[in-house]
Amino acid sequence: MKKKDLYILMLEDDPLDAELNKEQLFVLEEYNCIIEVVCNKESYHYALDNSKPDIILCDYNLPDYTGLEALHDLKQRSTLIPFIFVTGAMIEETAADAIKAGAWDYVVKDRLFRLPLAIRSALELKKEKELSAYAEEKANLLLMAIEQTSAQIIVTDKDGNIEYVNKKYSEVTGLSFDEVIGRKADFIMPTDIHNNNRVPDFERLMKGETIRGEVLNKDKNGKEYWEIVSITPIRNSQGIITNFVGVKEDITIRKKMELDIIEARDKAERSDKLKDAFLQNMSHEIRTPLNAIVGFSTLLSEPENIGVKAIIDYTKIINKSSNQLLRIVSDVLTVASIQTGQETIDSKSVDLFELLDSLYEVFLPDAENKKIELRYHRSSKKAPVIITDEFKVKQVLSNLLNNAIKFTHLGYVELGHSIKENQLEFFVKDTGIGIAANYQELIFESFRQVNPSIHIEYGGTGLGLTISKSFAQMLNGSIRVESELQVGSTFYFTIPYVQKETDEHAEKKLVLSLNKTPLHILIAEDEYFNYALLEAFFKDSNVIIYHAKNGLEAYNFCIENPKIDIVLMDIKMPIMDGLKAFKEIKKIRNSLPIIALTAYALDSDRRSLLEMGFSEYIAKPVSHKNIIEKINKTLKTPDK
Ligand code: ADP
Repeated sequence: MKKKDLYILMLEDDPLDAELNKEQLFVLEEYNCIIEVVCNKESYHYALDNSKPDIILCDYNLPDYTGLEALHDLKQRSTLIPFIFVTGAMIEETAADAIKAGAWDYVVKDRLFRLPLAIRSALELKKEKELSAYAEEKANLLLMAIEQTSAQIIVTDKDGNIEYVNKKYSEVTGLSFDEVIGRKADFIMPTDIHNNNRVPDFERLMKGETIRGEVLNKDKNGKEYWEIVSITPIRNSQGIITNFVGVKEDITIRKKMELDIIEARDKAERSDKLKDAFLQNMSHEIRTPLNAIVGFSTLLSEPENIGVKAIIDYTKIINKSSNQLLRIVSDVLTVASIQTGQETIDSKSVDLFELLDSLYEVFLPDAENKKIELRYHRSSKKAPVIITDEFKVKQVLSNLLNNAIKFTHLGYVELGHSIKENQLEFFVKDTGIGIAANYQELIFESFRQVNPSIHIEYGGTGLGLTISKSFAQMLNGSIRVESELQVGSTFYFTIPYVQKETDEHAEKKLVLSLNKTPLHILIAEDEYFNYALLEAFFKDSNVIIYHAKNGLEAYNFCIENPKIDIVLMDIKMPIMDGLKAFKEIKKIRNSLPIIALTAYALDSDRRSLLEMGFSEYIAKPVSHKNIIEKINKTLKTPDK
């Protein structure tokens, strides 16, 4: 076997001593000793800088350079080269100084036989020192890596008491090293594990397996974050578990993205379901009244087979069904109009009590039919006149009253208002079925009903509250509900309270009769039934009706007949439409009032017709009251 080279640097000024030393070294049979003897500082430094001695033997007393200086100069370069003093005599203090200065050993010359032993044990020690320096270096590297990693690291003893946490752990949890050391790792257990009883699988852990999981945790201030956790047991060389290491990584951002995706998917699914339910409901809602209208109209077409009472009953049913149908169509159109931004606010003076009175009158019969009380108290004080969009306020309150009566079977529905600072708050309270807390926001979304059974029992499209909320927002107001299941609901609708300065409005109360006699009215309408209905409205009034079946006839009538006081003009007509006829008539008779009567019922239609110069606008289907009110209003302000 080839012997290992052992390079020995000897600093010795006396050649005889050097030879004596060398003689001893032959004992080191296991090595191939290569010995270099240097005798002064320069040659010693040269050797240190240019070769790598495995060991240095140094005389303690040199002429111009001491052994301690030689030791000091070596330590500047390396601490891992064994340095042994070989010297004539060494008193104890000197020996102690030498060891303190970093000498590995010393051999006195009269016991030179110890030299090989000293060399062997120095080489052993060197090996150990090298190993521990290596281990220390690696441990430092590991520690640096653990301190600088982006994961949180926790080490506990076998009982779960924390022994170490890295910097990242403190950063994420807000808990400092000192706050956690020695505490049970339980207290940093993810909340999910505690709350949901998802106890980590300690049995598997004790068997030596690593356990993993994603959990929601809380930092020191209670802020939640998601993390992926893995806990691994650490075994000693005998295979006994001595510690556990936990590695945790913050995955809040990823988790949030995942949750967002799931939420978006659920929302899309919900919206699909809602659309399906809407189509089904809508089809049902439209077909039900249509069925009644078509069925009973057919029966009415053979009046000879049914009695007068049946005719009256059937007519009532047709009437009711038509109104129902009208409400649905108008709701859908209103939603479309809101969505396309065509709804605008038309503010004017509104007598608050008149508005509430009219709502009370409209809804009283419905409440009476269901044998529930409709409560409405108004103060005896003079009614405030406010500036707002009367149509929209009425529509919101109508929706609320309609729902309140619909969903109440016993007790009462109350309509009221209060004025707080600059806010006018209406309320509609009922003692009906109530709404569960988790639906109290959702019911304001389009097509939303509390659940499918609501539709089966009560019908409806789920649009009323959507429209109400949009209108409330357009009026710079708000709408909210307080409700308790089986106890009842109160809807609050708030708008800014803008009061009119003078109370001239009260003077303008409309009288439901015509007082100009006889009044000559031209009705321009191509549909005979529509004309017949209007004619029937005026049956008991002192008016003379003329009928034009298109715009051209209307124009000719107005030119040839100066007695005409007012024109009710349909817009869509053959030969000449209502708009053209309006323009032609105005060229000749500019002051003749012309009221537009049309099935173009959107808010934008109304605005554009009024802007063109029509005195009033009436959307079809027209009601008796509406037409009389509008005619009276037009005749009172002839210069409009
Ligand atoms: P619709 O009444 O046509 O279904 P809405 O938008 O007006 O549509 O109402 C949505 C849902 O809100 C109703 O289907 C019902 O489930 C619930 N809701 C509204 N008002 C009340 C009320 N006063 N009492 C109980 N539930 C109500």
